[in-house]
Amino acid sequence: MNYISTRDKSVKASAAQAIAQGISNEGGLFVPDAFPAFSKEDFAALSSLDYKGRAKFVLKFFLNDFDDDETDRCVEGAYTGSFDNDLPAPIARIGENINVLELWHGPTCAFKDLALQLLPYLLTASAKKVNGGKKTVILVATSGDTGKAALEGFKDVPDTEIIVFYPSEGVSPMQKLQMSSQKGENVHVCAIKGNFDDAQTGVKKIFTDSAVKAKLYENNMLFSSANSINWGRLAPQIVYYVSAYCDMAKHYGNLDSGFNVVVPTGNFGNILAAYYAKKTGVPINKLICASNANNVLTDFINTGKYDRNREFFTTASPSMDILISSNLERMLFELTDGDDAAVAALQNKLRDTGVFTVDEKIKEKLQKLFWAGCCDDAATLATIGEYFKEYGYLCDTHTAVAFNVYEQYLKETGDDRPTLIASTASPYKFAKSVLGAVTDKTALSEFDNVRLLNEVTGKAIPAPIKALENAKPRFNTVCDKKDMLSFVCDALGVK
Ligand SMILES: *Cc1c(COP(=O)(O)O)cnc(C)c1O
Repeated sequence: MNYISTRDKSVKASAAQAIAQGISNEGGLFVPDAFPAFSKEDFAALSSLDYKGRAKFVLKFFLNDFDDDETDRCVEGAYTGSFDNDLPAPIARIGENINVLELWHGPTCAFKDLALQLLPYLLTASAKKVNGGKKTVILVATSGDTGKAALEGFKDVPDTEIIVFYPSEGVSPMQKLQMSSQKGENVHVCAIKGNFDDAQTGVKKIFTDSAVKAKLYENNMLFSSANSINWGRLAPQIVYYVSAYCDMAKHYGNLDSGFNVVVPTGNFGNILAAYYAKKTGVPINKLICASNANNVLTDFINTGKYDRNREFFTTASPSMDILISSNLERMLFELTDGDDAAVAALQNKLRDTGVFTVDEKIKEKLQKLFWAGCCDDAATLATIGEYFKEYGYLCDTHTAVAFNVYEQYLKETGDDRPTLIASTASPYKFAKSVLGAVTDKTALSEFDNVRLLNEVTGKAIPAPIKALENAKPRFNTVCDKKDMLSFVCDALGVK
C-alpha cells in the first residue's frame, strides 16, 4: 500500500513521507491507495483488546513503513496516562439507541487530543526516516481546539518548533486562555485579524510557497502540518470508530443492520474518519453531517453545490465556524473513484470562484452515504437544556448541534436504529454558553461560569480546565493576515 495525492495519483509516498510532509507538493492531500477489509474474526479479535491494542491493530495497516515495534511504541506513548480514565473514548448511553462517544477526556478536553497525542510520535518517527536530521516546523491554523491540542502534543518535543495561528475574535475565552498560556520552549502562538478560513488559507499558502520552503531548507528545517490535512491526524481517528463499534456490538449483541453516526462537522476530518472506518468493514448505515449556522456542507450534501460565497457567522460552536472544509477534498476523491484530474478541477474552481457543483452521479453517491442538517445558536442552546433536563446529560455546544440534527434525522426518516453521536468537547470548554442553556444564572468571569455550572449540574470539572484558572497568558501578538509569513520567519529566526 502507498499514499497518493488527491490531485495527482502519480505522486506516491510512504506513510512516513506523507506524515512528515503533511501536504503533497502540488497542493493535493495524501490518501491511502488501498484500505484494509476487516473480517468478522478481526472484529472479534479487536473486541477483546483494550483501546491501545485496538489502535495498534488498526494503525499497522496504515503505517506501511513503520515496523510493528515502532507503531506499538507510538501508541503506548500517546495513550498511556494522558486521558483522564485510561479510556480515551468511552461511550455514555442515553435511552436505548443513543450512544455518546465522549472524545474529550484528554489533556485539552476536545476530540483533537485523540489524534494530536499520537501525531508527535508518528511525526518524529517519520521525520527520522525521511528528513535526515532536519528540524520539523509544525504550522497550525486553528478554529480553537486543534491549536491547543497540537501545542500540548508538540511542546518540548526535540527537533520540532510549533507555530499556531488562531482567529483573534473567533475562539471561546477558555480556548484563548488555553493557547495564550501554553508552556514549552518550542511553541509560538499568534492571533490573526480574520476568521479561521483566513488562517487556514494563510498557512496553506506559506506551506506551498517554494521560496519559503527553500529558505527553511537552507536553515536545516522543513514544514509539516498538524491540521487534519495531515494523514497522521486522520488515521488515529479511524481507530475510535472501530473501537466504538466493538463496544456497541458487545452491548447490542448484534448490529447486523448497522448503526448511524452523527458528527458535528467543520473541516470534515472527523466524519471522514468515520467514512474510512466504514470502508474497513464497520457496519455504518448513514453518516449524518451536523453543521451550525455556517451550513455550507448541509447545502452541499442536499444539493450537490458547494458555495462558500455566503455570510460567515461567529457562533456558540466556534470550532465549526468554517466555510472551506479542507477534508472534503479526500471525500471528492472517493466519490469520483479516484479521479485526480476531476478533484483538481473542482478544487481550482473553489479557489478561483468559491463555488463548485458535482454531477448527478456523484450527488447520488454522496446522498446514499450522508445525510445532512444544521441548526442555529438558539436551537443549539435549547438542545443543551433539553438533554440536561430530560436525560441528565450535559453536553457542549458542538455536541448539541449533533443531537439537534440527529433529532431532525429521526423525525424525517423514522430510522431509529442504534446511533453513535460523536461528542467532541467538554461542556466546561464552553461554560458560558452551556450555563446559559441550563439556567438563567450568569456570572461575570469565565471561571465563575465554570464553578456555577458545576454547582448547578453536579458534573465534574475536568482537571485541565481547573488548572487553567491560575495560568498566566504568555503570548499576546495579534497580526494582520498578510503578516503571517513574517511572524513565522521571526519565530524561527530565519530571514
Ligand atoms: C474541530 C472540532 C469540530 C469539527 O471537526 P472537523 O474534523 O473539523 O469536522 C467539532 N467540534 C469540536 C469541539 C472541534 O474541536
